Amino acid sequence: MYVSGYGSDGVSVLRLWSAKAPSFDMNMFNKGDYASALAQNSIANAISKVLYPNDNHLEGKSLRLRQQYFLCAASIGDIVNTHMSVYGTLDNLHEKVAIHINDTHPTLAIPELMRILLDDCGYTWEKAWNIVINTFAYTNHTVMAEALEKWDVNLVKHVIPRIFSIIVEINNRYCQSLMERNGYDSAKTTRMSIIKDNQIHMATLCVAVSHSVNGVSKLHSEIIKDSVFHDEFCNTPEKFKNVTNGIAYRRWLYQSNPELTKLLTATIGDKFIKDGANLAALKDYENDEEFLTKLMAVKRSNKERFCKYVKNHSKITLDPDSIFDVQVKRLHEYKRQHLNVMNILADYNYLLNNPDADFTPKTYIFAAKAAPGYYLAKQIIKMIWAISEEIRKNPKISKKLSVVFLENYCVTLSEILMPASDISEQISLAGTEASGTGNMKLMLNGAVTLGTLDGANIEIKDAAGDDNIIIFGMTTPEVNELKARGYNPTNYYSSNGTIRSCIDRMYTGINGCTFNDVANSLKDRDPYMVLADFESYRQAQKYSTECYNDKMKWAKMSLNNIAGAGIFSADRAVTEYAENIWHLK
Ligand SMILES: *Cc1c(COP(=O)(O)O)cnc(C)c1O
Repeated sequence: MYVSGYGSDGVSVLRLWSAKAPSFDMNMFNKGDYASALAQNSIANAISKVLYPNDNHLEGKSLRLRQQYFLCAASIGDIVNTHMSVYGTLDNLHEKVAIHINDTHPTLAIPELMRILLDDCGYTWEKAWNIVINTFAYTNHTVMAEALEKWDVNLVKHVIPRIFSIIVEINNRYCQSLMERNGYDSAKTTRMSIIKDNQIHMATLCVAVSHSVNGVSKLHSEIIKDSVFHDEFCNTPEKFKNVTNGIAYRRWLYQSNPELTKLLTATIGDKFIKDGANLAALKDYENDEEFLTKLMAVKRSNKERFCKYVKNHSKITLDPDSIFDVQVKRLHEYKRQHLNVMNILADYNYLLNNPDADFTPKTYIFAAKAAPGYYLAKQIIKMIWAISEEIRKNPKISKKLSVVFLENYCVTLSEILMPASDISEQISLAGTEASGTGNMKLMLNGAVTLGTLDGANIEIKDAAGDDNIIIFGMTTPEVNELKARGYNPTNYYSSNGTIRSCIDRMYTGINGCTFNDVANSLKDRDPYMVLADFESYRQAQKYSTECYNDKMKWAKMSLNNIAGAGIFSADRAVTEYAENIWHLK
């Protein structure tokens, strides 16, 4: 697939591979072994049929391993063939080619390139190794244990035996070098080993081999040095870097928000379309009431457009004059959609007791896909749906509080929603979200972040200014301290009446459905500390409504988010990779 750059002559090639059986085994078929002939054919076709739907969770299935090896072998083979056709040798591969391991899923590219150099080209181990370590760089995407890929030794040995033997040799030599480096500290070597407890640790393999290792936000890049790769960092500190993520900038502004693009162009010219840094010129208009009024008119128009879309697709009527409070992202406990639900339950309970209270109308918009096997995530989706339905049955409360769960969250839906958003919910437990990119899309479209000091939210705060973001909750060090002290969610349940009433509502039923497993997980374990951050979140929610009700203040906050969003362009991120890691001119 050809991919052209905006306003440039550059065209890149994105290769997409698909697996096919080399040929149907007619011999086997003719001998009467119909089933085996067909089975071979369908196993081959199955390799590139499905994308495993997990997010931040490992999937140790044999088909997944075959997929990973298939895609790595295809791409490495293609790179090697192209290089050979130009240079006729692989001696200079590392001088001409950079291979980037984006998360651990393509880790097998490392032993696959070793295999080609050793077995197909006859290089010595030392010479092959030198080429490989100067070719590969690695980006880490998560520190959560359940997401770090580990492959069972016996599975790898069975499916890809030669690749397995190369990984074993890499590990043996790596452990030997660690022993020499660390004064024969065998406990440390065992801790840092690529293979341990009968499992191959893919992130460890990537760090051992790559000449560069980076996280995807400033906070995350510090966390990997302090935690998962601390020992590796102490050995080779010069390897560790940061490249904060970016987004497809023109898709999320120029293409998906034409009205805002038009207003910006009329105000600051069109240089910002090519270079996001030029959005900063908008800052001159932060006290210009005429401009701020126009900016809010664009938002209002995008909200109407979104309301029409929702009406057409789910027959639900939304109020474009209400605050659009948006949490759209994969469903995962660490992202804490249930913290958002807890606050909605508290508001709903308040309105049930005070139906005539003064209340700024608010629409909570959710969208999320859950991995099919993630039971609690699906329960949380059902709970959002249930509260949405129950509130809709109460016409009086519905005028003030409304909840909608949009099905099939995808980029296409996102492109309509981002321009219509007022509040961007980025409420993960501090230290769990590596970067986030939804936070950047929403900021660029003028939404104000309501979030924790996690991932790129910290850099969004720096870019937008402290007054133009609403921060709540524990910091990463505070989370670690509370964990070390011993976190007991039951104490919060017992001592905080609002928390208790929200959790009890899950037990007694919402729209006739009970959510005992969600309630128990919060009350008994609460691994992502929802209850510990609840009061602070509720205060931040109240404050966001106060800000919104001061129209010019809100418009100014929105403007400062747009003005500061330029650094979150992927143009900037890719430039950093090119200069600091791939060493491209
Ligand atoms: C941007 C985006 C994401 C990532 O969102 P986060 O809030 O960073 O988790 C997920 N899904 C879709 C469809 C997106 O557009």
